[in-house]
Amino acid sequence: MRLTTTLKALFVATIMTITGCSKNAGNTAPQGVSETTLTQTISALQSQYPAADADRLERGIRQAGALWRAEDGTDTDFHAFALDHFVGNDEDRDALFLSLSRIMENLNESYDLLTVNLLKPTQLTTEGEPTEADWIMSGFSPSAHLLDDLFQNKIAFLTILNFPFYSLEEKNRLGTEWTRKQWAEARLGDVFTSRIPADVLASLAQAYANAENYIADYNICMDRLRTEQGEQLFPDGLLLLSHWNLRDELKAHYADTAKHNPQQEMIYEVMLRIVRQEIPLAVINNHEALWYPHSNRVENVSDAPESDRRYQKILDIFHAMQQMDNYCPNMPTGIIRNFEGDIEIPAAEVDSLFRQLLGSEQVKMVAAEIRSRLGRDLRPYDIWYDGFKARSAINEKLLDGKIRKIYPTPEAYRQRIPAMLTELGFDKSLAEEIASHIVVEAARGSGHAWPCMGHNEPARLRTRIAPEGMNYKGFNIAVHEMGHNVEEVTSLYFMDYYMLHGIPNTGFTEASAFLFQHRDLQLLGYGRQKQDREAVLDAFWGMYEIMGVSLVDMHMWQWLYANPNATAPQLRDATIRIAADVWNEFFEPVLGEPDCPLLAIYSHMVNSPMYLPNYPIGHLVEFQLEQFLADKTPEEWAEHYQRCYRLGRLTPDEWMRRAVNQNLSVDACLEKVGQ
Ligand SMILES: [Zn+2]
Repeated sequence: MRLTTTLKALFVATIMTITGCSKNAGNTAPQGVSETTLTQTISALQSQYPAADADRLERGIRQAGALWRAEDGTDTDFHAFALDHFVGNDEDRDALFLSLSRIMENLNESYDLLTVNLLKPTQLTTEGEPTEADWIMSGFSPSAHLLDDLFQNKIAFLTILNFPFYSLEEKNRLGTEWTRKQWAEARLGDVFTSRIPADVLASLAQAYANAENYIADYNICMDRLRTEQGEQLFPDGLLLLSHWNLRDELKAHYADTAKHNPQQEMIYEVMLRIVRQEIPLAVINNHEALWYPHSNRVENVSDAPESDRRYQKILDIFHAMQQMDNYCPNMPTGIIRNFEGDIEIPAAEVDSLFRQLLGSEQVKMVAAEIRSRLGRDLRPYDIWYDGFKARSAINEKLLDGKIRKIYPTPEAYRQRIPAMLTELGFDKSLAEEIASHIVVEAARGSGHAWPCMGHNEPARLRTRIAPEGMNYKGFNIAVHEMGHNVEEVTSLYFMDYYMLHGIPNTGFTEASAFLFQHRDLQLLGYGRQKQDREAVLDAFWGMYEIMGVSLVDMHMWQWLYANPNATAPQLRDATIRIAADVWNEFFEPVLGEPDCPLLAIYSHMVNSPMYLPNYPIGHLVEFQLEQFLADKTPEEWAEHYQRCYRLGRLTPDEWMRRAVNQNLSVDACLEKVGQ
């Protein structure tokens, strides 16, 4: 994953990301300039600049007037400000655009660097043990007051007045005809569309940081787990982070030949105990405790359950989000802000897109194939069936040994990035230039990518490397993160306008991460990888799983907004029921086990609310890109990759149209699987 919609969005990208809160700021702000003043200002400026675009002029004045507060001045002050600061000729407007772009880059980059440095002790293993002070600072939001300040010094009003905001619908409709420059100007118009007080932003940032710390430190000591017969199934010292490492360990056991796999059954049991919060608190991160997950017995420690800490973290984020709702009258819920503001696809569209795939005949066909390969009836955890990957055919221990030699340290990985990019088809000098903007660092968590926000900053690949060197799991994740980094560098360092840097939503950077991750064996010298039959089935089964989890996440948030006074135990019961409902509709018919709550295990649901839909959207984008790239040579592959990721931050619709001449859809995928 990439840290942008959680901590990042709040710390750094405040001015880039918290946008779109008022789609039509002209009508609904609680206070603002009077209609009489607005009309007078509009007509005064229209007579002063008869050649100026009348729609844009009126838009800018109305949007600025809606966010003007008593503390900014009187209506007369507003009128004078607008007359002074509206730029009526194209040449001066272009100069202002460049100047504001530079300011945005400076602010984004500087706050980002500050945040990166403050978070290093808690995020990286190279900085020693984090102190109490480091943990406190990990929840600190340096840019929390930035928005306030930029309204106070009137940079915000200068921007809105000259570069007004366009709604998602308008961008999709008008944007088909826009030039690159017009798109960049529209993205500048997205920066100041709401005025959320700093204390509200800060409390949301704190809630996210608390959830993040809770998740990052949630390890299960696998060597302390016992079967009911007292048997130890996992090797000494194996410590797995929930849920990512647990899931990956479960996946790794598909390489075993036995039909019944007690390790998988035990991990499944652990996951259910976490979802239901029956897991004894004392077994988390504890090397002393002995735990029998099947009966939930413990030895050496108390058996008191964790009892809803997990759901309390989600509630804390919800409550902080509700405070923000008051300042976003036209996008009054976190759900709307997430889907129409951040993802830029309305929630109802995402829901219906996912249901088309989840309910398809193709799911049953693929399930039948898995059943025949496993030679047994399917179990719920077979949502993570891993047998479609070419890598499962290669013994993981062999891979571990090979990778450990090549990648003993983060630095060794960094040095090989140009060679890996060349292997994928990138021109040598381009590969070196991209690699020169990427640093590799040793992460405490499961690994993530941290993007660059300006031209003096590298993209960061954070990976977890054991003292004895990188293993295959670590390598596979590192390649995924590298896919993010290459996108981040391409969409910033090779972009025509800073305001267009990046991608439409995080699904598109996930698509890049998947494109790379699915070629990890190619990077180890096992030959060119394409989207062959196995890869298609693998991608499809992955989408089936994550779309299910995404629906649970979305429906949980819908339930929260319908039940704003819920307690943590009520949220737990509701989440278990929601997960069971999604299961019964789309998963029970092929995997059995009515009312199974397994889909609620994802850690993202706790620390990155509603981030999960980005993954299946990413898979769909990847699928459409893969199809488009399928018959290309490695050089063409790399060229088209560059062309697509230099499109920048258009809307998802427009990006897809320009990249592959299609809308975002499940059709291509279903068709391919059907074949
Ligand atoms: Zn990712």
